[in-house]
Amino acid sequence: MSDLFGLHETSDPEKRHAPKTIFVHAKDTPSVRLPGIKNVREANVDARSHSRKLMKLMTTRWVLIVALWPCIAAGQNPSILPVDIEVPFVSPPVSGGGASNLVYEIHLRNFWRKDLILTGVDVIDQKTGGVARSISGDELYESIYKPRRPDDSSDANLLECGRVLVFYVWLTFEPSQDLPDRLYHRLVFSVAGSEMQDERSVDGGVITIPKTDPVKISPPFANGFWLIGSGPSNRSEHRRTVLAVDGRTWLLQRFAFDAMKVGHDGRMVGGDLATTNNWRSYGQDLLAVADGVVALVVDDIPDNIPLSGERAVPMNRETHVGNCIVLDIGENRFVLYGHLKKGSMPFNVGDQVKRGAVIGKVGNSGNSEAPHLHFSIGTRPDPYSAEGLPFVFDSFESVDIENPGDEALLSTGFGAVSITKAPRTGAR
Ligand SMILES: [Zn+2]
Repeated sequence: MSDLFGLHETSDPEKRHAPKTIFVHAKDTPSVRLPGIKNVREANVDARSHSRKLMKLMTTRWVLIVALWPCIAAGQNPSILPVDIEVPFVSPPVSGGGASNLVYEIHLRNFWRKDLILTGVDVIDQKTGGVARSISGDELYESIYKPRRPDDSSDANLLECGRVLVFYVWLTFEPSQDLPDRLYHRLVFSVAGSEMQDERSVDGGVITIPKTDPVKISPPFANGFWLIGSGPSNRSEHRRTVLAVDGRTWLLQRFAFDAMKVGHDGRMVGGDLATTNNWRSYGQDLLAVADGVVALVVDDIPDNIPLSGERAVPMNRETHVGNCIVLDIGENRFVLYGHLKKGSMPFNVGDQVKRGAVIGKVGNSGNSEAPHLHFSIGTRPDPYSAEGLPFVFDSFESVDIENPGDEALLSTGFGAVSITKAPRTGAR
């Protein structure tokens, strides 16, 4: 149930260790000053009454100061290291795991003629100059996605001339902590092949933390116990699935999860694994998580034979997510249900549905190995070209694998497990 949508960075052999706990701390950093600014400014005024030659010189230096001013004002160090830093999208902070979580990616491109080795990433509060997070070592190495040919075994943090890296950021803040308004990043590199201790840094990737709350939804299942796999974490396969489609990169699966129904015997399947109907998930009702309007329906793709490694139809953009329905729930939020059962969605685009209404049934269509629901919320109705948004459930009960009771369940990520046998109130 995990091999969805193709690009899976966790299958990368560079992934060597389990994810580390993220800590948030702040320490004072020296304020940034450019030497000579005040002197140059004063000299420029004086130059008006001096020789033309001196005037020309001072005017040139004024231009330099004006050009650097945005950088100075932002608290960032000026740098000529030709690395492009881009943060394509910042999702709203979301509570989970006892913390407030801020999730985004930094894209790095090396425009220099030399290869660089990324050795550190500092996340800096633009207002205070304090370092909110400093990432290095194994954690840094494991936070990188490097698009590569199959025969390329170069280090993940080696940013060769002309190449691109994606750096996955997952910041946690104490619930009582005020989140910064804006952050920027200091990327520290060493020069590959240099015998000198040649370390350079470049600041950039300024982000404004969104103030919007994540949407609160009801569970997509009617009842029972459901295993939530590849749920929200910085290492889940969904989290690492950056897709380049329609001329840019997207990460719709930033907070996506997969769900499989678990029976009261603690099993997800009873009998022959290759028989679709033996899977407890198969044919289960799926519910609208909010009032919405149907924005997309695909309902004609046959199911795969479970665990066969085969697909009933060729995989392409039209078939990868299988039968699916997308609900427009307003405010540019679109709910995607993927891999559904053929013929289970009697809807047309534009139909209105109410929260809790049955909108389809779990299937095993598209790029799916066993019957399960793939679920995400994004900024656009397309199953690929959208940015993933966080969400919280209005009620669910989490079952701890350490204390399973009558049920044996597993969990991944802070999203934990299990939905709605006896819903508790309160968002998680
Ligand atoms: Zn999935």
